[in-house]
Amino acid sequence: MIETIYIEDQVANHPRTREILARFPDTTQIHCERYAEIFNRKAQSFRLQKKQPALILAKKHKGFVLPAPETYNIGAKENYYFSHMMNCLYDCRYCFLQGMYRSAHYVLFVNYEDFATTIENKIQKSNKEIHFFSGYDCDSLALEPVTKFLEYFLPIFRKHRKALLEIRTKSTQIRTLLNTEPFENCVLAWSFTPAEIAAALEHKTPSVDRRLEAITKLQEKGWRVGLRFDPLIYSSNYQSQYRRLFDDTLQMCNPELLHSVTLGSFRLPKGYFKSLQKMYPNERLFASPLEESNGMFGYKAKIQSEMFNFCREEILNHIPEEKFFPCHDVL
Ligand code: SF4
Repeated sequence: MIETIYIEDQVANHPRTREILARFPDTTQIHCERYAEIFNRKAQSFRLQKKQPALILAKKHKGFVLPAPETYNIGAKENYYFSHMMNCLYDCRYCFLQGMYRSAHYVLFVNYEDFATTIENKIQKSNKEIHFFSGYDCDSLALEPVTKFLEYFLPIFRKHRKALLEIRTKSTQIRTLLNTEPFENCVLAWSFTPAEIAAALEHKTPSVDRRLEAITKLQEKGWRVGLRFDPLIYSSNYQSQYRRLFDDTLQMCNPELLHSVTLGSFRLPKGYFKSLQKMYPNERLFASPLEESNGMFGYKAKIQSEMFNFCREEILNHIPEEKFFPCHDVL
């Protein structure tokens, strides 16, 4: 899968780098001074690189933990996100990463220890409920066999019960989780769109059924789960598609272990939207009834609020309101 690995000089001897390189002995391995030389290079084609992305092993120097956008929350007042990786194995047409980065290569920041120090400092300084989100600039689990992200970060949060970790994913890489004792302050959150939409737009991702199988196995083991219906994608029969999706997902979840459900509209910053439109001139999604408002592209207000209200009502037929966290920024 990975044919080329770039290695920043300053992490060349990091144990995590050595472990990853040992796993891929047949790759072309190229040393570089700074990952930005490769990742931020001008005139790169995201689409061409996406066919065969390289892995870049790098060191992150600052911005380990950042405040989460205001609407990105599942009940706490203090919310942060952190990204051990940039870019994703999957290829969702609506993904903002394609508009945000010039390159499709995967950057893995191997200095997990620095992330952990910052996370622990934030936890110690906080006197509120505090939540941390992973999976903002990547899929948290998709590259788990390579990154060993969970192996490192789960024990950190297991120690700090007042902080909650959300691991957001579409992946079925759950082996580490099945081999680990669950703990209360960790939520495994799967994103869903209806099966027809996922098949059309979420390229290379596990099917909705396979994600549900993963959830079932993890709930049997005792893990808490979140469901993320984000982004909501319009189609002429969205009501029946989403009703079926809510029935399938919410009915099979053990209510005791269902931590939260979120709902978010499709929206992209204008600049990212324009890049995606240029990248996929024939993509139906970008020819949908969209409009710009406050620098963001999304569905026209009427469609958006009709869809949102329909989905909210459907979801609340299945779960109590205190587990529901709609993303309000677009209404
Ligand atoms: S799974 Fe998430 S991060 Fe990965 S391509 Fe899809 S939307 Fe982007």
